[in-house]
Amino acid sequence: MSHRRIATEEAFAPPELLQLYRTMLHDGEGDKGFQSLWGFYLGSTAERPRAVVRRLADLGAERIADMDAAGIDHQVLALTAPGTNVFDPATARTMATLTNDMAAQAVRDHPDRFTALAAVAWQDALHDNADAAVAELERAVRRLGMCGVIANSHVQGAYLDDQRFWPVLEAAELLDVPVYLHPNTPNDRMLDPLHDAGLDGAIYGFAVETGMHLLRIITSGVFDRFPRLRLVVGHLGEALPFWLPRIDHFHAAQVASGRYPAMKALQLRPSDYLRRNVWYATSGMAWQPGIMFVRDVIGADRVLYAMDYPYQYVPDEVRVQDELPLDAVAMREFYEGIATRLFHLTV
Ligand code: MN
Repeated sequence: MSHRRIATEEAFAPPELLQLYRTMLHDGEGDKGFQSLWGFYLGSTAERPRAVVRRLADLGAERIADMDAAGIDHQVLALTAPGTNVFDPATARTMATLTNDMAAQAVRDHPDRFTALAAVAWQDALHDNADAAVAELERAVRRLGMCGVIANSHVQGAYLDDQRFWPVLEAAELLDVPVYLHPNTPNDRMLDPLHDAGLDGAIYGFAVETGMHLLRIITSGVFDRFPRLRLVVGHLGEALPFWLPRIDHFHAAQVASGRYPAMKALQLRPSDYLRRNVWYATSGMAWQPGIMFVRDVIGADRVLYAMDYPYQYVPDEVRVQDELPLDAVAMREFYEGIATRLFHLTV
């Protein structure tokens, strides 16, 4: 094999954070999506959720053995959803710092196997304290060597198009690290019809929530303000690549008609930002037609490998992607080259 396999959406969680989740579940705190998702993972006695929780907390022997068994050389680690988004600001700040220190230790212990995205208390920005989130991002990148920042989607119903978050986006642009926009369960205002049918999670609700979030970021003008900001999304773009012409058509029509005060003219078409500012990981989507489609309509240089460990730890899905109809150069880009440049990896 002439390339390494770098997996770029690989989750972990400090035991201390999981313990706070248990307390919140016991006390009935957090939104309905949190109660649904983590009530299952931390409450079920079935084998899969128990294994997921055990693997989330491990940044050592079991994780590395799983990587070896699946042929994964390197993981880009990120705090699992909803991360610190469900906490009050002070708790979120404490947990983000603890998370970054834990991840940094794992990277120091296994520099060839792990790099990590920073966690920040995004809600600081909602409480006139964006400087604190920016300071933690700067510490994580400059002092701990982290290669990006995880955004576990909405923060108690607030999305990154809210300008109070923009100082953190500006810092990511200045530090030249990407923001990984990862799914969260839909917020309480959109959860019920998904949850009633069992559709709120990875099966579909995550994509609805996160695809919408990415569109909100685009249509609010974030990328006109921060043209060098880079976003990464998983799951082959949360379905947005399939919608490019319709999004462009109705964005132009709605801007022209002045139908919505929030929908302003942009410098480019929405699809242009999806090609210029966004990268697409294959997490959970080991599916040749989908991968080749996104390469075709977005760009082969924007589609990179991810597993979504430990939630979708299916070693055979690596084989599926080994068999993509790509030559050796393109395969090396898919598994290694794009991720190395995107995250400025040095190992
Ligand atoms: Mn994931």
